[in-house]
Amino acid sequence: MSAPTPAKARGSKSELPIHRACALFPDMPTDEYKELVADIKANGCHVPVVLYDGVILDGRHRWKACAELKIDCPTVNWKPKKGQSPTEYAVALNMHRRHLSAGQRAAIRADAIPLIRAEKAKVSNETSGDTLTAAAKSAGVSRATMARADKRRREDPEAHEAAKRGEKPKKSSGPPPARKPKPKPVLDGLGFEAKHPKLREAIESAGELRQLVIDIIKCRTRVRNFCKAGSEATRCVHHQTVDTDLKNAFIHLKFAMPFTICGYCGGQKRGCKACDGSGWVTEKIFKMTPRDMQAAVKRKLAEQSGSKAE
Ligand SMILES: [Zn+2]
Repeated sequence: MSAPTPAKARGSKSELPIHRACALFPDMPTDEYKELVADIKANGCHVPVVLYDGVILDGRHRWKACAELKIDCPTVNWKPKKGQSPTEYAVALNMHRRHLSAGQRAAIRADAIPLIRAEKAKVSNETSGDTLTAAAKSAGVSRATMARADKRRREDPEAHEAAKRGEKPKKSSGPPPARKPKPKPVLDGLGFEAKHPKLREAIESAGELRQLVIDIIKCRTRVRNFCKAGSEATRCVHHQTVDTDLKNAFIHLKFAMPFTICGYCGGQKRGCKACDGSGWVTEKIFKMTPRDMQAAVKRKLAEQSGSKAE
């Protein structure tokens, strides 16, 4: 870096442009700035402002204070160290001398990534001149924190700006919570949605009964196969009798299951003898119901579900 040369911070040169890297950092808090002005007023400005191609790379508050006080401000031209870009220099200088939280440091450093890459590409055709690992190291955060900050910069500018101000990320900035899947409709034995409350309740609570029916079917197969195998243990088993008994149990349970609404009362009459006032009947009862009543039930259920009757 060359020796400081005093420059006017007043008059026509008081409005020097600020480098983008310098502008990444938040303004100095008002009370701190007032202290800086008071200090410069009493002691003068001894730390030179760093310029790069006539742009302020570091020291914009000092420059502003000198301009306000109408006093000379020392400046130096930035001389890069090997491989260091102007943004890298400004970021490294400011990152830890301000009171910034880890979240703020990560967000600011994320903003510097594209600047540094562009600067490095200019001088060496190197397009990946800044890595998340290097950024994390310079911000003093973990690589994972850096990666999150960089992703937020690209995908959620509002949350990114809030992070730079040191605000906690809002929960709502993420994707909306997944909707609860619609419960599957409960179907009756005819394939219509069981809208009658008592029928629906009966079907829903018939799970164990349904499982028993399935188990009996499996049991019949097992008994048949076991007897076919001709083991000594089956010498006294009368396969046909067992199978018939199991079949009867199967038929009894299957036809006792809630099937559909009662054709006699349409699921509406309390004193109905066909359904004991429950409003629903089993498959057995339904099959014994007169045909016209069966058809009326199907028509009614089809109308309710908005589909065509058979
Ligand atoms: Zn009935």
